[in-house]
Formats: sequence, structure tokens, C-alpha cells
Amino acid sequence: MISNRSREILIQASRFVFALAITLVLTQFSFDYIESFLYDARVRARPAPKPTGLVETIIVDPPTIQALGRVPNAADFKNLIERLDRAGARHIVSLLSPVDSVGSLDETRALAQTAESVKSFVVALDDVPLSGEKDALKLAPPFDRVRTASAPVPVDRNIFARDDVTRRMMLAYQGFPTLHAMVGADFNEGAAAEFKKNGDRYTPNAYRGVFEYLKSDQAYVQFSPSGTYQPVSYVNVLRDDAGLSKFKGKIVIIGRDIETTSKDYVRTPYSRDIVAMTIVELSANMFDTLIRNDSPKRAPRWMDLFITVLISYLTVLVVLTLKPTTGLLVLGATIGGYFSISILALWLGGWWIDVAHPFLAIFICYYFFIPYRLIIENRRSWEYYQKNKLLTQVEELKTNFLSMMSHDLKTPIARIQGMAEVVRSDANPLSSVQSEAINTLRRSSDELLEFITSVLNLGRIESKAIQLHLQSKDVNSLVQEVVDKLDYLARSKQIEIRTELEPLFSIKFDVDLIRQVLSNLVENAIKYSPDKSSILVSSEERDGLIVVQVADQGPGIPEDELPHIFMKFYRSRNAEGSTIKGSGLGLYLAKYFVELHKGRIQVDSTLNQGSTFTVELPAS
Ligand code: ADP
Repeated sequence: MISNRSREILIQASRFVFALAITLVLTQFSFDYIESFLYDARVRARPAPKPTGLVETIIVDPPTIQALGRVPNAADFKNLIERLDRAGARHIVSLLSPVDSVGSLDETRALAQTAESVKSFVVALDDVPLSGEKDALKLAPPFDRVRTASAPVPVDRNIFARDDVTRRMMLAYQGFPTLHAMVGADFNEGAAAEFKKNGDRYTPNAYRGVFEYLKSDQAYVQFSPSGTYQPVSYVNVLRDDAGLSKFKGKIVIIGRDIETTSKDYVRTPYSRDIVAMTIVELSANMFDTLIRNDSPKRAPRWMDLFITVLISYLTVLVVLTLKPTTGLLVLGATIGGYFSISILALWLGGWWIDVAHPFLAIFICYYFFIPYRLIIENRRSWEYYQKNKLLTQVEELKTNFLSMMSHDLKTPIARIQGMAEVVRSDANPLSSVQSEAINTLRRSSDELLEFITSVLNLGRIESKAIQLHLQSKDVNSLVQEVVDKLDYLARSKQIEIRTELEPLFSIKFDVDLIRQVLSNLVENAIKYSPDKSSILVSSEERDGLIVVQVADQGPGIPEDELPHIFMKFYRSRNAEGSTIKGSGLGLYLAKYFVELHKGRIQVDSTLNQGSTFTVELPAS
């Protein structure tokens, strides 16, 4: 035999092992889609980060096309670069390739020369060179000496969440740094120091949250919603001299927003379904993330495992021990609470903590254990049902037995009573001892008969065989009849029974049953009252009810026994110990009979002062 304590420990341990197993199985799958979906929700829920103000954007937009009457050509482009250079822009990053600019041979050459000679100008290309691949980023002549850099736009298309949303940026591929990784360090002292330590070369240690993925260094972008970076129209840069000062010392990104191709746009956590952010603004977000150095960092795997085990275990406990609604509330609060924590972690600490595994663990543990709990409860209620059935059968047998026996006892008692009557009415007078003996014989057989009638009534109640035989009668006459009949009993204890009966209308009721009720109340009053006391029986009509009260000056009923006296076979502690005879059935039957009439029976009692029983019957 194992003790209860070790049994309990064993149960808890097996629950924990189950939680652990669920966690281990679950964490074999990454559920990137769900995780990223919930990550995007967190990005939207947290307050957006503030731009550094070090990045400006210039776009070719519809007003530019309208003002120029065409798409900007090679001469415009040259003009733009020169103006930005003169304005003191620190990095002029062009997402537009000069190769695509339309112009005469001279204009094209002039553009190539300007682009080459302005040292801050760089063309950002979507390509990444493979290691060892030369000239991959070289533009076609005459632009072959213009500086270019790799600036790919990673999209979760075939990897991670596969939902076409851009969340990451690439910092290096096969050790070859991208434009953003290089330029970012120019405005980020910490990153610059790391570069310096590494012999003035890029290193992944320079930025927060860099992770390796398939030979590339990547980091998550700390996004602001589209529209945070207000762009300047291309044409304004060409025409507005006063506006140029804002570009001084900054990163200036040149791109396009004319909705001619979806390549110029991306989906972000802020706009998952529509391509709503220009890659110009995406690029600004990337630069700012690197300058602020606040790229969201993914929490380590052990933490994910730890939290998932913890939450699985909690779910198992909740499902198996709490009430269903409380359980659901606790689990709902856990989901809400944990998600709120994950939003705070992202907002205040820049941490991406996994929520997909813990959430799925809750659902799996819940659905796994609910049927288990149902089976247990079903079995329990089946056991109760069986036990109940058995008890009902025993109860029925008992009642049948009592009824049968009582019925068979009635005849011999009637015979005893008959014989006693014969002896009493004999012509030869009896001696006083003999007549006392005959009286005792009669009283005892009366008591016995009463007891048997009670038991028989009980049997009838339990087999639901009682039917009301309603007759119209004045309750007062019945009260008087009962009082008269019990007068001899009262007199034997020198008890006075007083009556105060208000005139009443006749009502319909079962005379036999109510007679038994009233007899029982008056008899109890006599039985339990001391000698020489008095009993008041009163009747009145009150609020459409016929009210009969029997008040005595007896011992009263202790408060703790009051709720029980109308129960089957209940006798008070005092009555049990005394010589007062009784079956404990009288008040039970009385209550049953009164309630059959849709009436009520109540008691008011003060210890050592007396009890008042009140019967209320509906007047109609
Ligand atoms: P019993 O056959 O014992 O009288 P009843 O069902 O009539 O059974 O009454 C149940 C219990 O209620 C009695 O045992 C008694 O303790 C208490 N009781 C009933 N009537 C009175 C009363 N008038 N005064 C004090 N106690 C009473």
C-alpha cells in the first residue's frame, strides 16, 4: 500500500511529466506563422519608436511627374545629386539606378561623372554578391565606376512565417556587409567602436539582436508605421533652394512612390495584408533601427521551453482541479496576462518572447484533459447513481415490510380491544384493580393502533398512494371535535384546553387527514406539557388563509432541533430519554398532509416557555 502523501506526489509528478512531454513535442515545431502573426500584433500594440531625425527621404511622386511633365531624366538626376552634395548630405543612397535614367549620350555621361565624383553617393542594389564573385554589383557602362552597395529587402516569402511580410533586414551575406550595416555605424558610436576593434571591418557584434541565418547576419527591424517618415518630392529638391538645408549631415534616401510596380513596396507588421510601405521608408526604418541600436532580440530557446512547461502544467492543474467556469477564467487570464507581458517586453526591453508555444500548450492540454475529466466525473456519478438505486430499493423494502406488518397487527389489536370491552361491560361488576387493568389495556392498545396507523400512512405516502378526498366543512367544528376527543387525556394531567375560534366559512379539505394533523398537534401539546398547564387552540382567517394555532406552555424545543422536528422518525433528545411515548412520525405526516393541501405548517418555540404550532390552509 502506498500512503496518501506519496500517492499525491506521484499524481503531481505524472502531471508534470505530461506537461513536459507536451512541451517537448510542441517545441519540435516552430509554428513560425502563428508566432509571427502574434509578433506583428505586439508591434502594432506597443507605442512606435521615435525616428532619430538623421534620415531623410526623397521620392519621385505624382506631383514630380506632373511638374516635370515626365519621369525625371539623366539631367535631373545629375542636378539632384549635385544639389544634395552641395547641401552637405552625408550619405546619398539611391534606390533608383542611374542606368535607368533616360537622356542623350552626353547627359548620361555627365550623370555618370557626377555620380562617380560625389563621394557620398551610392546606388543601393537588391543583389547580394556570392563569396568570390567579382563585379556582381557593377553597373553597366558608363556607370561602371559609380559606387554601389548591396541592400536586399528580405521578405518572409519562402522562409519563417511565409506570409510575405518584411520583418528583418540583412546585415551581411557570407561575411560581406550590406549598405545598411556599413552606413549605420557612421551614426552609431558603439557600432563604430566594434568595427574599429575588428580592424575597421564589419562585425555582427556591432549591433543588437543580430542572428545568423543560412550564412547571413540578420536583425529584426524596429518598425514605425508607414507615413512616419515624411518624404520630400523629387521636384522640390530640384527647385526649392531654401529646403535643402534639412539634408545636411544626414542619410538621404532617394526612391519612388508612383504605384507603378509592387516592387517599390513591402508589407510590414503594420500592414500585413496590403503592400503599404515604400521601400524608401523601409530603408529609413532599417537605418534608424541600426542607429538607435534597438533591433528586437528574440528570447533564448530555454526560456520558451521553460515558460511552455510552466503553462502546460498550470493548464493541467486548472482543468483537473478547478470548476469549469473558474478554470476557463483562469486560463483566459493567463493568455491575456502573458500576452500583455510579451507586449511590455517588446516595448520596454526590445525582447521578442515566444507566445505561440505557450498558447498552443494551453489549448492542447485543455482539450486533452477535458475528456479525461469528463470520464472521471461520469464514472463518479454512475457510482452515485448505483448507490442511490440500491438505497431506494432498501427503503422500499423497509416501507413494504413495515406496512405489511402493521396491517397484520391491526386485527389482533382490534380483537384485544373487543375482548377488553366485553370484560368491561360484563354484568358482574369488576374490582377496582380489574377495572384499572382493563383501562390500561385499552389505552395501550389505542396507542399501539395509533402508531400502526402512522406507519401505514408513511407507507402510503412513500408509495404515493395518498389521494385527497375533499369535503366542504367548517374547520372550527373539526377543531372542536379533536379537542373534545382529547379532553380525557388533558384531564388526566389536569391540563386545561382553551379555544378561541373565530367564525369561519366552510372550506374544502380532506377531513380525515386534517383531523390527524390537528389531533397530533393537540396530543403533542398535552404530551409534552407539564401537569396543570394550559393549552390554547385558536382559529382565524387571515389574508385568504385559514390559520389554526396550538400553543402550549411546555418545555419548548431547542433551537438546534427546530429544523429537524418535521423529519421522518425524528424525536428530540429530551423526548428520547423520557417516558413520553412517540414514533417521531406525527409531525412528519402532519407536514406532508398540510402540504398536500398546498398549506404550510410552522413552529415558534421558546425554551422552557412553550411552543406554538401554526397550520395555514388556503381558504379556496
Ligand atoms: P413524537 O411521536 O415523538 O411526538 P412528532 O413527530 O409528533 O413525534 O414530534 C417530533 C418531536 O418534536 C418530538 O419528539 C418532540 O421532541 C418535539 N415536539 C413536538 N411537539 C412538541 C411540543 N408541543 N412541545 C415540545 N416538543 C415537541
